Order: sequence, then C-alpha cells, then structure tokens
Amino acid sequence: MDPSGPPRAAESPPRAGSDGGLRAQAQAWTPGQKLEYLRSRNVGDCTRCKLAKTRTNIVFGVGDPNARVMFIGEAPGADEDRRGEPFVGAAGRRLTQWIERLGMKREQVYIANVLKCRPPGNRDPAAEEIEKCSPFLRAQVRAIRPAVIVALGRYAGMLLIGTDQDLKLAQMRNRRFTYDDAGAGLQIPLHVTYHPSYVIRREGELPPGQRNPADDTVMSDLERALRVLRS
Ligand code: SF4
Repeated sequence: MDPSGPPRAAESPPRAGSDGGLRAQAQAWTPGQKLEYLRSRNVGDCTRCKLAKTRTNIVFGVGDPNARVMFIGEAPGADEDRRGEPFVGAAGRRLTQWIERLGMKREQVYIANVLKCRPPGNRDPAAEEIEKCSPFLRAQVRAIRPAVIVALGRYAGMLLIGTDQDLKLAQMRNRRFTYDDAGAGLQIPLHVTYHPSYVIRREGELPPGQRNPADDTVMSDLERALRVLRS
C-alpha cells in the first residue's frame, strides 16, 4: 500500500478483489490476527507524519488481544521509543503497579498510545499527527473490543471522548463517557484519569515519605472504571 496515503485500510479489514476475498476471511480472524495484520501491513514502516523522521521505533501496543480493559496514553516517551513498547520506564512501572493493585496482571490488559511515534522532547502531539495516527488506534479498539477504556492523560481523554473543546483533566475525570465508533457498532464505557508521568512528577514535589494524593485519586478512578466488569 502507498505509505504516504491516508491510513484508510487501518479502519477496516482488507478489501476484496486483488486480495482474493481476504476481507471476507478477515471477518473470522481472531483479535490477535487482526492486530497483527494492522501492525505489520497497515502501520508497517509508517511515514504518514513527520514523527517518522525522528522516531527510533514505532510503538504499536502490547497486551492481550482479548483484553477486557484497554489503557490508552498520549504518545511514547524516550524509553518507549528506544524499546518499541508502550509504558515502560518509570511511568510504565507505575501503570503496572496500578494494574496489579486492581487484582490483574499487565499481560491481561491491552496498552497503547494515541500516537505510535515519539514527539521530539516529549512535546505535545500536533493536531496533524493525531489526525494521521489516530485511525490506527481506532482500528486497535475495533479489533480488541474491550469492555472498558481508560484514557491516561488529557490528550488521550479529549481524543477518545471526541470533543473539540480544550478540556482540563479535572473536567474529564470522575465521569463516565462513551467511546463511540458507530461504523463498528461500538459504544464502550470510557473513563479518564491522570497519566502516570504526572503522578510521578507530583510525588517529586512532596516531602519524602508523604502519601501522594494523586496516586490515591488515580486508584479511585480506576476502581470506578472497572466496576463495569462486575456488572
Ligand atoms: S505517529 Fe503515527 S502516523 Fe505518524 S509516522 Fe508514526 S505511526 Fe505514522
């Protein structure tokens, strides 16, 4: 496929015709097979936005393709860019701790970012980068069809809510939204909470040994989000 074209194919399984009915076959694929096709054939060695020039690795996503919980962050950082895996390093360890405090293992959830390549210097994602890359994330959600999505941080929250408004994180947390993908018949409960990097930064501002209120806030957000699994 043309790497400079829009990521149209990422939105759906392969088309019939020269693919010899591949699209029809894809309907029966497992979530893992769909993700692998998306990773290897649609994302590939993507050059759709300028982040391709500065990245070390594309950071596609990791976890159980059949996960009931999907965590979605903003973009890879330096550790993720180097290793090609989302949420590694200090932020990744904190996310893993949160998952384990919820009684799960990291391998049981699926973790991805809105952007698959690192913005230089961890700057905020540009609108054009989000526009070019977010179809890949939407295709991941279509493949996995989780029971609940947790957005980590403000950008992931605004994108997944589908708002044009410039919302603060405090306006999004402690509420239940719906991730809406009408084309795929998906309406998934969506919660927004702080990114682990923010929580770690807050910790650094506290006197040694003092309990971090941001950490407790995230845990209560996550427990609220996961109630849907028990209903
Ligand atoms: S950020 Fe997304 S759209 Fe941009 S080059 Fe990377 S994979 Fe492609």
